[in-house]
Amino acid sequence: MQHDRPNSPAARDVAYHFHPYTDARAHEEQGPLIITKGAGCTVTDDSGKQYIEGMAGLWCTALGYGQERLIQAAERQLRELAYYHSFAHKVPPSVIELSETLLGIAPGKMGKVAYANSGSEANDTAVKFVWYYNNALGRREKKKIISRKRGYHGITIASGSLTGIPKNHLDFDLPIEGVRHTGCPHYHAEAHAGESEEAFSQRLADELDQLIQDEGPETVAAMIAEPVMGAGGVVIPPAGYWKKVQAVLKKHDVLLIADEVICGFGRTGQMFGCQTFGIEPDMVTCAKALSSAYVPISAIMMRDEIYQAIADNTHKIGTFAHGFTYSGHPVAAAVALETLKIYEEMDIAARARDLSPHLQDGLRAYADHPLVGEVRGVGLIAGVELLADKATRTPFDPVGKVGGYLDARCRDHGVILRNMGDTLAFCPPLVIEPKQIDEIVAAFGRALEETWDWVQ
Ligand code: PLP
Repeated sequence: MQHDRPNSPAARDVAYHFHPYTDARAHEEQGPLIITKGAGCTVTDDSGKQYIEGMAGLWCTALGYGQERLIQAAERQLRELAYYHSFAHKVPPSVIELSETLLGIAPGKMGKVAYANSGSEANDTAVKFVWYYNNALGRREKKKIISRKRGYHGITIASGSLTGIPKNHLDFDLPIEGVRHTGCPHYHAEAHAGESEEAFSQRLADELDQLIQDEGPETVAAMIAEPVMGAGGVVIPPAGYWKKVQAVLKKHDVLLIADEVICGFGRTGQMFGCQTFGIEPDMVTCAKALSSAYVPISAIMMRDEIYQAIADNTHKIGTFAHGFTYSGHPVAAAVALETLKIYEEMDIAARARDLSPHLQDGLRAYADHPLVGEVRGVGLIAGVELLADKATRTPFDPVGKVGGYLDARCRDHGVILRNMGDTLAFCPPLVIEPKQIDEIVAAFGRALEETWDWVQ
């Protein structure tokens, strides 16, 4: 019956599209926000309303919208060689060039890089590499992976298990076997009364040490962690945390996988979060800003020693039986390569460092507001946490309702942010102008006042 078909884009979305990270029934009621255009650091919806993208999409469009060089890089590559793969010794030139460039800027001592299409796939792949590596070394028991409560590593079977957020496990039958979650380094939320940051870091490192000993170090292969936790609520590691954690991992011969999916490429004020926090990783995963999100691509980098052991094993077996159809897609590689060139020319990390006080000080001006429990951040990533009672650190009940209200008010004022529970996240494109940061901060302030009126 033709006339019964939904005929507006919103009605068609509700009728046909199952949304990720969305309450499906609520969506049926309220419909979508249809974003039609992007230019610079702004996007426009189908009613013509413009917003500053205060979250760079999902922490990813570092160069904003309409970067002509990225568009041309994609077009050139599409015309030249729209698709090829890297299975069985073949490779397109853009992948060779990207690999060399990426290893040239990588943190630590990365010797080889492999590709996938998303952060989740990169982390799943990292887990497989670690298992394969330990099998190659004859350490068949050493397979468990440790991640952290509130850490976010994606949503596939393995990466979703590594993610330490209960909703990512609930009714998905996750986590899988062999994944353990250790404590979250959120000082303001987790520290004991009177405990210094260093003492708190030491307590977390001791807990990790105990966990590894309880499990048996011969069964623990790796720890995966974001230098700064993003989706878990923008958690900045407390003083001494990374030094103490790495000492524990070294003691037990446990590899460290740095998940640089958000932090990578300037976000924290250095090219990688590892460099900001003195992390010497064994493997690094990255995605998002690698291509400024213009096309999907992710990378898994590893120290040469890991590669050597894996390589020997591939020779024994006769192949490395892992790879996606789109591992090292030439168009994605060409766009990523051009993205990295732009980062270098702009000195993108220095830009993040220079703009950082503008964002962080701007938000800290709200620290004394009765709703604001904590303002935290580094570089161009920040979180403002709302609490029902800041003196006793009591959260709102239910968590997320007030944050959701504030998020919606920010949108009314032309700024897209994202509430993770009652923490509002800020992660604007790295090409944002100071004036636009001021607009984000001002809109947030207005929305905060409206939220305060609403909760009274
Ligand atoms: N790791 C981190 C730190 C992330 O923030 C994300 C996504 O937000 C992922 C992994 C998963 O990436 P994707 O959504 O591309 O699978």
